[in-house]
This record gives sequence, C-alpha cells and structure tokens, in this order.
Amino acid sequence: MTEQLTHFIDGARTSDTGGRSGPVYNPATGQQTATVAFADNAVLQRAVASAKQALPDWAGKTPLTRARVLFKYKELLEANRDKLAELICREHGKVFSDAKGEVTRGIEVVEFATGAPHLLKGDYTPQVGGSVDSFSMRMPLGVVAGITPFNFPAMVPMWMFPVALACGNTFVLKPSEKDPSAPLFLAELLMEAGAPKGVLNVVNGDKQAVDGLIQHPDVQALSFVGSTPIAEYIYQHGCAQNKRVQALGGAKNHMVVMPDADMDQAADALMGAGYGSAGERCMAVSVAVTVGEAGDQLISRLAPKVENLRIGPWDDAKADMGPLVTADHLQKVKGYVDLGVEEGAELIVDGRSQSLQGYENGNFMGGCLFDRVTPDMRIYKEEIFGPVLSVVRANSYDEAVELVNAHEFGNGSAIFTRDGDAARQYQQEAQTGMVGINVPIPVPMAFHSFGGWKRSLFGDHHMHGMEGVRFYTRLKTVTQRWPTGIRAGAEYTMPTME
Ligand code: NAD
Repeated sequence: MTEQLTHFIDGARTSDTGGRSGPVYNPATGQQTATVAFADNAVLQRAVASAKQALPDWAGKTPLTRARVLFKYKELLEANRDKLAELICREHGKVFSDAKGEVTRGIEVVEFATGAPHLLKGDYTPQVGGSVDSFSMRMPLGVVAGITPFNFPAMVPMWMFPVALACGNTFVLKPSEKDPSAPLFLAELLMEAGAPKGVLNVVNGDKQAVDGLIQHPDVQALSFVGSTPIAEYIYQHGCAQNKRVQALGGAKNHMVVMPDADMDQAADALMGAGYGSAGERCMAVSVAVTVGEAGDQLISRLAPKVENLRIGPWDDAKADMGPLVTADHLQKVKGYVDLGVEEGAELIVDGRSQSLQGYENGNFMGGCLFDRVTPDMRIYKEEIFGPVLSVVRANSYDEAVELVNAHEFGNGSAIFTRDGDAARQYQQEAQTGMVGINVPIPVPMAFHSFGGWKRSLFGDHHMHGMEGVRFYTRLKTVTQRWPTGIRAGAEYTMPTME
C-alpha cells in the first residue's frame, strides 16, 4: 500500500485524489512509497481563494502578533526537527545528519522573520517642510506564491514563506512533486502554531500547477528556485503578467585552489562540498580550478578519499552520502560521466558501477573524479547535479578567475589560499553572487541574503534577509500635515517644502 498525498488548503489536507498524480519513491530502495495528487485548475483556484480570503485579517494584524505566531512555529519546528528530517530522507535520500542541517538552516529563516516589528519599521523624517512630516512604510503585496525544487524540500520553502508571512502576505507553495511530504508537514505545523487557516496553502503538482500560478490574476509575486531553464521561463512569463518575480536557477560552482593553500584542508573542503548530499546541492562545488602545482597535490589527496566515500541509506550514521533522487536522475548523472570519458577528460575515480548490497534497486552510485577537464567540454559547461567533481588546471590566478567569470552560471565560488592579497582581489573580481574565502560552501546566514549572478538568478532580489523583506513588500511614502485651521488657499506651483 502506498500513501496518498494531496494538497493543504484552508488549514487542512484535502481529499482530492482523482485526476492526475505522480509517484513518490524511496531513493534508497527504488520502491514507490506514495502517490501525490497533481493540482488542476479547480484545486489551484481554491488554494488562491483561501489565501485571498485570509489576507485582510493577516495583513491587518500587528507585526508583533505575526511574529508571535512565528516564535511558536520556531519552537514546534525545533521539537519536530527529527521527524521533519526523516520525511526529507525517505523521499530525497540524503543522510539524516544532512537533513537535520537542512531543517536547521530553514529554522534560522523563521528566527530572522520573528524580527518582523523591527524589519518593517520604515523610515521617518520630521519636518520635511514647515509642519510637514514624511514617512515610508513597507506594505504587503497580497497573495504570493513559491515554487521549489526537490533538493531542499524543507529549507527552500522556508527561505520564502516565513519572510513573506512576517511581512503580512499570504502564501501558496508549489513544492517539488518528488518529495512533497516535508512541505505538507511544514504547513500543518504552522497551523498548530496558531496561523489562521489560508495563510499558507500547499498545492502539489507539476507544470500545470505552476502555469496556473503564473496566470492567476490574484497572485502578486512569484518566488522560484530550481533549474535555470525553468527559472528563466518563470521570470519571463511572470513578468509578462506584471508580477514581481525572483527566480533562482542552476549552478556550476568553482573552487579556486592556489598553490599556497593548505592542501589537506582544501581536499577535505572539496570532499564535503563536492560529494555531500550526493552533489545534489545548488551550492555544491562541481569544479576545482587548481593553479600551478596545486593540481598534482590535490589530485593525489582527493583520489583515495573519493575511492573511500561511503554510500548508504539515510539511517546509516556512517554514510557520507545517500542515493540520487530518482532512477532517471541516476542515469542522467552516469550519462555525464560516460560523456566526460568520450570528451577526453581523465576519469581518476569511477563510481559508476558501485551499488549497495541489500539496496540493489536503490539509486546509488559512487563518487567520480575527473582530472584535466577543459572549458570546451560539456561536463564543464553543464550542471551535472551528482557526485562528480571536475578538476580544471590553470597556470595562473588570472587564468583561474577568467574561468570563473566566463562561465554562464554565477551562483557561488570559493578561493583557497593563505595569501590575503589574492583572497581580497578575488572577492572583488569574482562574478558570482556568493564568495567563500577558505570556505567551500558560502551559503549566507538567514539575516544576509542568498542569491547568484548571471544565469543563476533572474530578477533583482536575493532570498531572505533584508532582500527578502524588500521582495515581499512595497513601499508607501506618506507626507502629512495637520493644518492649524487657517486656510492658506490653493497652491498652483510644484511643492518644494521650503
Ligand atoms: P526543476 O527546475 O526541475 O523543478 C523546480 C520546480 O519547478 C519544481 O517545483 C517543478 O515541479 C517545477 N517545474 C519543473 N518543470 C517545470 C516546467 N516545465 N514548467 C513549470 N514548472 C516546472 O528543478 P529540480 O530538479 O527540482 O531542482 C534541481 C535544480 O534546482 C538544480 O538546477 C539546482 O541547481 C537548482 N537549485 C538552485 C538553487 C539556488 O538557490 N539557485 C537552490 C536549490 C536548487
């Protein structure tokens, strides 16, 4: 028997089981564990109508009242951290400690959003003119929607809705159809925390549901995280509907390793950043650019570590990484490794045929390491999204930076060096939205903002932090005067407030 998953509308799971649906698998066993309903237009209309109905009351509450719901929510998330992590593991495949880390990073955004009264304070200037004061207020947009990827089924939704709700909006979430259980549970916990029904609705589904949100006249803004072609599609079509859009796309994150770097530290950093979560992270390092002699030193350290990577199901506490999300994705990643060999890269470690005893139908593969990858190869240009690390050799710092900057993606990048001058130069020159200096995965904390450059982000605003507050609010500026009662008569010239 597989579980039947539906939507979460107006404070409860729905009973919509007819119509289109999709399978949900346990990636470790390859078994189907659930069927998830796909929203049709009628479901979508109900979800948006519920959010619209909840809006006036929620937007009208004081920021402090909304913050108190989020405080309670944070407590409930902490109390349910393990349960949430297990839901993620069973459908995504990542190991338990990694899933708990994901939940923690999501909770940190809720923590940030509890600062709503402070975040929404606005600006005030007394006496912009004689007896005239002026102030700016950040007002909610209305009903807003989020569309999220499979690889962080709890954290990425939590990049969005806590900030949107803190600002007084109501939210419709369309999570990935590959791992819908964690987002549904997130919505249930929010109701338990005291949020009024309709404030957060979850519609499951695919392109049809997404297109419905893009077209819906009552949806004011779209937040998207996923692959670049879909990010671009959502940005272009959302803007054509005059919606505010932030759409975060794919990545090919480079880590530059200078010859003066601590090579043991750099190799360890690359292992975690390249193979953690089986490489299915938008901030995974998939390219190491070694400068000069760093190349040989790094390869000799990396090769045995990659050989010894331990794969396992989510509840194997000793496993370094789990399976890939689906059998299709496993084939795609293996296909890229085949391609790399055809393209002439040196496959130093080949994990393609590795499987796990007792889990032969799971989507497991071992880590792969390529050396002497060149910029003309497709394995360099395209996002593989698996446990495959490419080493590209550069002769100088300038050549390394040129590679980073010429790539079509610009999510994150890092430099490993002991030279402060090189590091400082790099932080200025790198054409990526997030930069790590001796930090391989520079994911900003919740009170800073997350986002890439170039074809890794379409739109103007990064996620969470003050960028999130700006995205989910619009500015209203009030100029006020309380007349003394002496009527001065009409004014026909442009007011200059002198
Ligand atoms: P995806 O683009 O396939 O799916 C993302 C969302 O879009 C899902 O909800 C999906 O249902 C929906 N979708 C899929 N096809 C669609 C279509 N044709 N029209 C409309 N909607 C569609 O991405 P994924 O495979 O779930 O996630 C992996 C990708 O996400 C990788 O490229 C990764 O780099 C990226 N990602 C980026 C970030 C970031 O912050 N930049 C973070 C996490 C993941």
